[in-house]
Amino acid sequence: MKTAAIRIRLTFWYFAMFATAACLLSIASWWMLQRSVDATEYHDLQERAEDVQLLLLNEDPNRSIDELRQDFTQIYSIKDDGKWLQVADQDGRWIYRSRRMIAENPELPRPEQLPKMGVIAEFHQGTRYVRILAYPIQVRDKKYSVQTGIALNKSMALLKSFGADLLLLTPAMILFASLGGHWMSRKALRPVALLAAEARCINDRNLDRRLPVPQTQDEISDLSNTLNQMLERIDKAFASVRAFTGNASHELRTPITLLRTEIEVALIRPRDGEEYRATLSHLHHETVLMTRLVENLLSIARADAGAERVNLQPIDLNDLFHRMDRDWIDSMHLAGLDFRTEIGNEQHQALGDPSTLPRLLSILLENARKYTPAGGSVVLSAVNESAGIRIAVQDTGVGISQKDLPRIFDRFFRGEQAGIAESSGSGLGLALGKWIAERHGTELVVASSPGCGSSFSFTLLRATPAPLKRASLPYLLEDEEEIQA
Ligand code: ADP
Repeated sequence: MKTAAIRIRLTFWYFAMFATAACLLSIASWWMLQRSVDATEYHDLQERAEDVQLLLLNEDPNRSIDELRQDFTQIYSIKDDGKWLQVADQDGRWIYRSRRMIAENPELPRPEQLPKMGVIAEFHQGTRYVRILAYPIQVRDKKYSVQTGIALNKSMALLKSFGADLLLLTPAMILFASLGGHWMSRKALRPVALLAAEARCINDRNLDRRLPVPQTQDEISDLSNTLNQMLERIDKAFASVRAFTGNASHELRTPITLLRTEIEVALIRPRDGEEYRATLSHLHHETVLMTRLVENLLSIARADAGAERVNLQPIDLNDLFHRMDRDWIDSMHLAGLDFRTEIGNEQHQALGDPSTLPRLLSILLENARKYTPAGGSVVLSAVNESAGIRIAVQDTGVGISQKDLPRIFDRFFRGEQAGIAESSGSGLGLALGKWIAERHGTELVVASSPGCGSSFSFTLLRATPAPLKRASLPYLLEDEEEIQA
């Protein structure tokens, strides 16, 4: 629809421009022709007046007016039947009047009343259209008025036929140009129409399809490339949403199947209270893991949708470490691990989000517990550095292979750590941890080698009374007010 409208508009503009140009050109050429015809006629008339002047100059100055009349009659009546000519001296006495002039009897002003260039007048005489020029001449010390005329029929016919030709040609040219404009706009917009038709065929099931890119290196190929890049991004986003949904369903199916099987087995026959207690306790453990998985899934989905927000504010790391110690010490001991928190004596006030920062530490501590065999140790530490406060979770566990290292932050990625029986993870913990660290303006970095343990660390900004510099933390601007408060 849009293409048609643009095409019609282009045709219309082309028509309007061409019609205006053609009309202006026609009017200008007609006007120029008329001017040059007028100038030629004027020069003819002027030359004839000057002929009279020459004649008078050759006359004897002592000749009387009657003798002059005789001379003029003799010359002009033979020459060209006098045509349109009358000559009078400065006292208004006629020297010569042709028959045609007498018949029309136009007024001939005295020479001193005439301007230098003369005066032009026109009249019809029979079938002729006549232009006359009253022109002042001077011969020795005497002045004369000469009025000479010429039939304009030839030049009028010329102008008329030229005008008629223009009237015929101009609309034909405009029509031709409009058709040309229409054809050109169709041709110019054809690739756009083709692109639109191709784009209409692309839907959520064939997002891998791409639009054709013409080899012309023009706006159309630029548009095709831009649309293709956009399709690429949409395709990737769709693929990642699909993968996330698929992985999430898969992750949920396993524990649910486990729960179902366990309940079905328990219901096969009546059992004593102890057996039911054991089954229920196992079911409880499974549901706790499931709850954690669903929480992680929700957090990632909310983070993708932009709904999960962090609210940075000063946090006392001593308090936070104390809480972590209290929450994790039992489970670490149960796993046969030595767990310590190390924090200097100085005040550790860092900028952090009170709800997501503990979660990040829990993710790292849980991994350390899971991937460290009994007898090992886990240390949560905070060290003051020039860039801020570096927080690290270090274990003496199985470590991560070089092959797995680049992938551990990918969603649903799980490494195959030898010797670790418990595989309660879903591969979402570090993905979420990475996102939380990024929202704190830092990066979660890992240093690990197989058999030597791992260390995950990130750096938090120190909470100082001075306002945050915008340039240093651009993506935290929305939280800035709360930070300063
Ligand atoms: P999971 O729930 O499987 O632990 P994570 O995203 O937290 O998922 O971790 C991804 C993978 O990174 C783990 O499967 C494991 O292979 C590796 N990993 C994470 N933390 C550690 C660690 N402290 N020691 C060894 N391997 C780890």
